[in-house]
Amino acid sequence: MKALIYNGPRDVSVTEVPDPKIERPTDVLVKITSTNICGSDLHMYEGRTDFESGRIFGHENLGEVVEIGNGVDKIKVGDMVAMPFNIGCGHCHNCESSLTNYCFTMQPNEGMAGAAYGFADMGPYDGGQAEYLRVPYGDFNCLRLPEDAREKENDYVMLSDIFPTGWHAVEMSGLQPGDSIVIYGGGPVGLMAALSASLKSAATIMVVDRHPDRLRLAEEIGAIAIDDSKDDPAKEVLDRTDGLGADRGCECVGYQAHEPDGEEQPGITMNRLVQSVKFTGGIGSVGVFIPQDTGSPDELGKQGQIAFDYGLHWFKGQSLGNGQAPVKRYNRQLRALIHAGKAKPSWIVSHELPLAQAPDGYKRFDAREDGCTKIILKPGA
Ligand code: NAD
Ligand code: ZN
Repeated sequence: MKALIYNGPRDVSVTEVPDPKIERPTDVLVKITSTNICGSDLHMYEGRTDFESGRIFGHENLGEVVEIGNGVDKIKVGDMVAMPFNIGCGHCHNCESSLTNYCFTMQPNEGMAGAAYGFADMGPYDGGQAEYLRVPYGDFNCLRLPEDAREKENDYVMLSDIFPTGWHAVEMSGLQPGDSIVIYGGGPVGLMAALSASLKSAATIMVVDRHPDRLRLAEEIGAIAIDDSKDDPAKEVLDRTDGLGADRGCECVGYQAHEPDGEEQPGITMNRLVQSVKFTGGIGSVGVFIPQDTGSPDELGKQGQIAFDYGLHWFKGQSLGNGQAPVKRYNRQLRALIHAGKAKPSWIVSHELPLAQAPDGYKRFDAREDGCTKIILKPGA
């Protein structure tokens, strides 16, 4: 089959590789029809992780089941399914507590937890930016889609990661109906956090970024756009909240956060959240931070550290939640919202590309090119 292979920093190619096979009776094979490029792929694409060259990218996957192992009970050939980016075993302590983001058994490295398709440090699993994907424990890791699966495919594919991730950021922030919330990062994840905050009845939603196309998408769903290349975003949030700060905040940027001029400052968004969220407010951080970033221009950053305003954070009595999102905790509910027409996460999609054009897609999304807000690869096209 054809698959998108990582060759090294900013170098990917579509290459012929062996087809995946049923390796265990609980496996399912999926013919991928939609697979997104994610901001998480970009950290790896830019060579800022230890993702091994020769591996296949792709953790936001949707497709049709083409083969099942003889230990698979629920999933049938022909089902349209969306796979959470997390791979869970379903029976470890964490999976049983719906913490599939930190499954203990699918991660082969001692002392680590959490597995994913095509992801640095999250197990050896191939990604789905390919014609076919092997899904371990298929009954547990496939979400079946309703009869409008094809028609709403660009919505349902967001169930694999960014919609539940945005939802999780808002959930961790502790948002209550009527609250105000500020979201740092207007990329796909930040926009999904804005959508989630809206669905959860936030009264005021502010999104901070500097890309006009992304800010425009935030405005399309009723959020206030704050352009940090023009205004100090923390001051802007305080001005809009009677000087108190927003009730809630989300970090949707990650360790490659930078000033609008490009200068990387891994702590900038966390510190601005501390400034712009009220005393006793809550912060949900889903932008990725990593234990070691040898490519960081920042001395602390190289060691996975940030100069965090812990004093002010403590002084304000703020709560903080972080980490990978447990997609499976939310994907059924969010599927229902899409099916009922109450949520349309595909409003951010700017490009649908055949797999052959994936290298070009990576280049454009990595450049945050104007008008390139979310790319779905269509391996069947
Ligand atoms: P993205 O890189 O396209 O979006 C990030 C946005 O942040 C960009 O629009 C950029 O302009 C903006 N930004 C950069 N510096 C900023 C600053 N100082 N202030 C405000 N905005 C700033 O990526 P994405 O797909 O939206 O992903 C965002 C982050 O979420 C990434 O780190 C990704 O790895 C992570 N992620 C986490 C999970 C999870 O489960 N926790 C899941 C998916 C993605
Ligand atoms: Zn992703």
